[in-house]
Amino acid sequence: MNNGIVYLVGAGPGAPSLITLRGVECLARADVVVYDYLANEQLLNHAPESAERIYAGKIGGRHNQGQDEINNLLVAKAATGKVVVRLKGGDPFVFGRGGEECEALREAGIPFEVVPGVTAAFGASAYSGIPLTHRDITASVAFVTGQEVKDKDESNIDWGRLSLGGGTVVFYMGITTLRRNMQRMMEHGRSPDTPVALVRWATTACQQVLVGTLADIADRAEEHGFKPPSITIVGEVVALREKLQWFDKRPLCGKKIIVTRAAEQAGEFSAKLAVRGATVLECPTIQLVGPESWQLLDLAIRELPGYDWLVLTSGNAVRYFFQRLDELGLDTRALACCRICAVGPKTADEIRSFGIKPDLVPTDYKAEGVVEEFSRLDMHGSRVLFPRADKARDIIPRELKRMGAHVDSPVAYRNIFPERLPPETLFALEKRSVDCITFTSSSTVQNLAAMLGEELMLDMLKGVAVASIGPITSKSCRDLGLRVDIEPQSHTLDDLAEALEAHFS
Ligand code: SAH
Repeated sequence: MNNGIVYLVGAGPGAPSLITLRGVECLARADVVVYDYLANEQLLNHAPESAERIYAGKIGGRHNQGQDEINNLLVAKAATGKVVVRLKGGDPFVFGRGGEECEALREAGIPFEVVPGVTAAFGASAYSGIPLTHRDITASVAFVTGQEVKDKDESNIDWGRLSLGGGTVVFYMGITTLRRNMQRMMEHGRSPDTPVALVRWATTACQQVLVGTLADIADRAEEHGFKPPSITIVGEVVALREKLQWFDKRPLCGKKIIVTRAAEQAGEFSAKLAVRGATVLECPTIQLVGPESWQLLDLAIRELPGYDWLVLTSGNAVRYFFQRLDELGLDTRALACCRICAVGPKTADEIRSFGIKPDLVPTDYKAEGVVEEFSRLDMHGSRVLFPRADKARDIIPRELKRMGAHVDSPVAYRNIFPERLPPETLFALEKRSVDCITFTSSSTVQNLAAMLGEELMLDMLKGVAVASIGPITSKSCRDLGLRVDIEPQSHTLDDLAEALEAHFS
């Protein structure tokens, strides 16, 4: 049976999370993805790696591929039994020629499904804080192409109706023809004072908004060199932006920030920066791997009942320790006899996620804080297990030994550094477009120096604000010749995000 089908999927207006769930489902099944200039390329990550990716972009009238060619391509691929996703910016049926593509598919007898998307007008409206309708202001909205190339008498657009009555008018593809179209609306009776907003690259980190009136917006756009792709919103509703603007008001809006963490950990911190409006470039400088040999950790795990304390100082230590416990065929019952010290609230949460309540959580998250807490107890003769990273500071085992404890500190995981920086990050650094780089442990900065070479790192980070999570990481930065501009008072990721916000606002 031939399973060939074409899904016409609306990619949404730009921000990759504004695609629909159905759109993502279709992408996940795709054998072939044919995508447009306006469809965010990050969405291709939803497709299987093996899927063929074909760019069918059309850039501002310079048609890379004619519409017929695209239609034929869709038909040909689906005819061989492939699942084809035609990924189109915004909504496929709003100025997207999706209708023509469906007609061609119907004619060729190829089944299709249309998945709607958030059209650019809705993206621009929401992210500029301009409601397209409002009970007190206007009850209608029209979507109009700005590219109608016919002269006045032949126009398919009823300029009279569009211009009168006070409805909101949204132009797509209307930047190159802005002056003429604004002129037409005034000629047909719309007041020259009517507010107008241009929204470029709506919903993305590069969103730009320019506000004016019917009379002056074309001059203003020229002055600012305002380019496509942009939506033009005409109507009294534009004035609401002053009150309702939110997207470009967020504290880190327009800031490009590099997050250097282990790949598997970066997401959480990146999300904290992204909600504050930052453009985040994730740059993993740490790759976590198990120890070269498990022998010492395994030995300790098998002897767990003989320990009085288990000290875990990071989420990674918790994860690696419990994973190994599991691999050895044991579970949390093996910890019944020993008390557990968790350093930092995150580590404590991680331990709780295994159903265990930590006995001791020092209020100061640093190794010194742990030592201080233990110094209040009688540690003489206690046996302490401290599974650690290979490059961890040795202050905890050293001080506990001084208190008379027997400490075993087998390596539970190692930090190694990836060979190279992601191209996107390197490119941004070379272009000097980065505002800030964040380091959340000494290894993040030391590994970056190892990856780039110290001299190149210093050169590339000239003019980039350095944010460090705490004094130890800051010292590692300074040891490498970096100046630390931002360091929070407390040393959690939330505190670091807040410190960044304070620095840039
Ligand atoms: N099918 C698309 C529209 C395609 S026509 C949709 O539903 O959105 C192309 C026009 O869409 C551009 O010229 C521009 O006017 C508008 N557009 C698309 N993405 C945009 C964005 N992120 N910001 C502003 N305008 C955008």
